Amino acid sequence: MSGVDALTGVYTLPCPGRGESRVRLSSFREIERLPGPAHPSIYRVVFDCSCGGDHVALVGHDALDWAPLGLDEATTFLNLMTSRTDDLATELVALASARIDRGEWPWSFFCYLEDAPRPVTPSSFRLLDGSVHRVAVAVSCPCCGSTSINLVTPAHVDVPFHSDRSVGVVAGAFEDRSLATRETFRAELSAAIIDDRRLELHA
Ligand SMILES: [Zn+2]
Ligand SMILES: [Zn+2]
Repeated sequence: MSGVDALTGVYTLPCPGRGESRVRLSSFREIERLPGPAHPSIYRVVFDCSCGGDHVALVGHDALDWAPLGLDEATTFLNLMTSRTDDLATELVALASARIDRGEWPWSFFCYLEDAPRPVTPSSFRLLDGSVHRVAVAVSCPCCGSTSINLVTPAHVDVPFHSDRSVGVVAGAFEDRSLATRETFRAELSAAIIDDRRLELHA
C-alpha cells in the first residue's frame, strides 16, 4: 500500500526498479475501484513513474482522498524542520476542516451534462493523460454519475484547494466503455471539441 505526504501532496508508491517513487496525482493515469467488500475501498492505480515506466499500485480510499488534506489519521508527516508532527497534523486537519465548512472544496471539476461546476475527490478521477499541454482528466460525477473530461493545469489536481479559474471542457458526456482504456481516452481527446468554462463553486 502507499503512503502520502500531506504537506506536499506527494504519494510514495512502489517502483520495481528503484524501490519506491514519489509521484503527484497528476502523474496518475488510471484510478479504478476494485470490486469487493474491502472497507475502506481499495483502488488500483496506474502511475507514470519518473523511471520512465508505468506501474500499478494499490491505494486505500483514505489515502487517495483524504490523506493529501491531512485528514487521514494514519498519515505520517515528513517535516524535517521540526519534530512537531502531532501539532502539525492537528493544524492541517483544522485548516482543511475550516475551509470545507466555509464551502471551499479541495477539488472541483466541470460536469458537462449538468453544465455546472461540481465538488469532487480524487477517487472520482478515472483516467488522466499528460500528453496534451494540459492534464486531461476524466471524472465520474458524484452528483449525476456521468463522466466528463476536463483539461486543467497540474496544480489543479495536485494542490488541494487550488482550482483553476477556468478549465477546458470536452463537449460531451462519456459512457464508461468509450473511456475503457487509455487508448480510447486518447482517441476521444484527439477528436475533442473543447470549450472553456469558469469553475466557481457556489456551495
Ligand atoms: Zn519506476
Ligand atoms: Zn454531473
